[in-house]
Formats: sequence, structure tokens, C-alpha cells
Amino acid sequence: MEINENLLKNIRKVEPYVPGEQPQNKVVKLNTNENPYPPAPGVQKALRELEYDRFRLYPDPTAKNLVDILAKYYHVGNDQVFVGVGSDDVLAMCFLTFFNSEKPVLFPDITYSFYKVWAGLYGIPYECPKLDGDFRIQREDYYRDNGGIIFPNPNAPTAIYEELEFIEDILRHNQDVIVIVDEAYIDFAGRSALELLAKYQNLIVVQTFSKARSMAGMRIGYAIGDPELVKCLNDVKYSFNSYTLNLPSLICGAEAVKDREYFEKVISEIVDTREWTKKELRGLGFEFPDAKANFIFAAHPDYNGEELFQALKRENIYVRHWNSERIGQYLRISIGTKEEMGILFDSLKRYISKQGDYNL
Ligand SMILES: *Cc1c(COP(=O)(O)O)cnc(C)c1O
Repeated sequence: MEINENLLKNIRKVEPYVPGEQPQNKVVKLNTNENPYPPAPGVQKALRELEYDRFRLYPDPTAKNLVDILAKYYHVGNDQVFVGVGSDDVLAMCFLTFFNSEKPVLFPDITYSFYKVWAGLYGIPYECPKLDGDFRIQREDYYRDNGGIIFPNPNAPTAIYEELEFIEDILRHNQDVIVIVDEAYIDFAGRSALELLAKYQNLIVVQTFSKARSMAGMRIGYAIGDPELVKCLNDVKYSFNSYTLNLPSLICGAEAVKDREYFEKVISEIVDTREWTKKELRGLGFEFPDAKANFIFAAHPDYNGEELFQALKRENIYVRHWNSERIGQYLRISIGTKEEMGILFDSLKRYISKQGDYNL
């Protein structure tokens, strides 16, 4: 049956975010920056001891226990912490709350592709200053009239980390708008912009349990900022959905934060593997910006990005690739275990030697 055009006119149409593939069979999965190691052991214990009768009841809408534990961990007030269902939920709430101006919100042309989607969904005007030839954010592009700023640090998918004085420059030039620093990968990188909170009321730092804390499946994210701003976020949240985090997530999230030692061990393991992976990639002739996240954004001057992506996929090795003009030659490769990276390199070497045969 033909759809009634008048009916369609009254329906919201959006360009959705396209998540990375989540194959349900066994593959070497290096395409969505998940952690290859399990969450802290305390998480498993808490989950085992969770009484299922508690599922009858609604969870704590304030997520007080988790908020308090995060506040203590980061040495901020518990009125400075907002939690949500993954940082995607937190970021969506931030767009809805903080980007309410007629002026365009600014974020880089090459960055987390969800920003554009939320702006579209909420009808927020935006502009995307171009990264330079080395994929670096040009801070001067953000020194102009705007309705707010957001960028990840390290940026995704480039994995480039900018030092705090760079972030501070952007904050200083934009004191009348909210600047959101999306720190999904900060634990693999360097100093967090959280250090600047005391000085800049316009700063919101967003982090997640999905990457460094090995809990993408639990969906936990958080924002930290000025109490006044966090209250605004909560007011919007309560206007949308009061019971965001489910009970297992609240409990497991709190357990994960308690185990600092395990967390630091996992991160140092991944950083070691990343540094080794860089050497191996360079050895094969790949080029990439210096990676400070748990992934590397690499291209080979002699091989087509799309073909490499497909060749790996045929061998059940999943990496991320975008068919777009500036980055079509690049693969975003998540850091897995050393063993998984070994499987990747075996496959890359086979591919390269086959191309060599064709070239003879
Ligand atoms: C992974 C990621 C997120 C979202 O993570 P959640 O799983 O929703 O917490 C947000 N921003 C960036 C830059 C990411 O890479």
C-alpha cells in the first residue's frame, strides 16, 4: 500500500547515527574500541550476589551510590556528577540542555559522528571547522561567536590528544558558552580537563565506562561540571526519563570504580600493546598520527583502505572504515590483546605479500 504523503509530513525524519558492526559470531573484533579485558573482579561478584527479587522495584532515580563513588574518585562534589545510560545518553542530554542558542555549535569536521546526529535531532544549528592536514584541531577556529563547543580529547577517530593548555585556550576564549570535552579515551592518553573545572565554569567533562573500564555492555557514562550546570542536566533528564540506569548497572558501575589497581593494570597493558602495535604497523609501511587512545588511525600509501578493510573482514577480522573523502584510505584499529593483534598482523602480512605477487 502506498504511504499517505500527508501522514509523512507530520513525522520527524532524522539522519541516524550508524554504529559499528556488532557481529554475534566469533571474530577478532577491533572495530568499536571495546576493552579486550574483563571488568574488575568485584563486578562479577556483585552481579552473582544481586538478588533478583530487587528487579520488582524501580532503581534509585538519583543513582546516589554511583554518583557518590564517582565524586569521591574524582575529588569533586556529588552535586557535580551527572550519570546516564552510556556517554551517548549523557551527551544527548548535554546537547538538549546546553546547546539552546540560535548561534551554531562548533565541532570538528572529522570527529565522533554522533554529534551531527544529535544536532539534527534537536534542530541545533552547527558548523564544523576542518581539521588541518595532520588531522589536528585548529584552536583559532573556535575563537568566534558560537552557541557552544564540543570535541573529544583524544579526538576520534584520529586518536590525537591535545595538551591541557590547548583545552584551556579554547575555554578562555569561550566563557559565555558551554564547552564539552568528550573524554571517552582520556585514561589511555594523559591529563584530564577535570583539572580545569575549578577555573572554568563553562566546562563540562564527559567520560564513559565503555572503554577503559571494560563495560560497554552495561551502558554507563557521566558528566562532571559546575553544580548549577549539573542541576540543569538533571532537570532535563527528569523531563525525559527518571529511571535511566538500571539496577545491575548501578551496582556494577560502583564496583568497577572501587578497584583502582585493576583499572590501572588493564590500562597499562593496553597502552603497552598499543605502543608495540605502532612499531609493527610502521614496519609494514603504515602511516598514522601519534595515537593516544585505545585505537590507531592508520593508512598505507600503497593499498586501498576499502580493499584492506574488506580483505580483513573476509578473514573475520573487523576494523572500522569510513567511505568518506578525507579518511577513506584509513582504518581505525582498536587495540585488542597481543594475541588478537598478532592475528591482525598475520593477515596484513598475507595481504601485502599477495599484492607483491600481483605486482611482479
Ligand atoms: C565510544 C564513544 C562514546 C560513547 O560511548 P558510550 O558507550 O555511549 O559511553 C562517546 N564519545 C566518543 C568519542 C566515543 O568514542
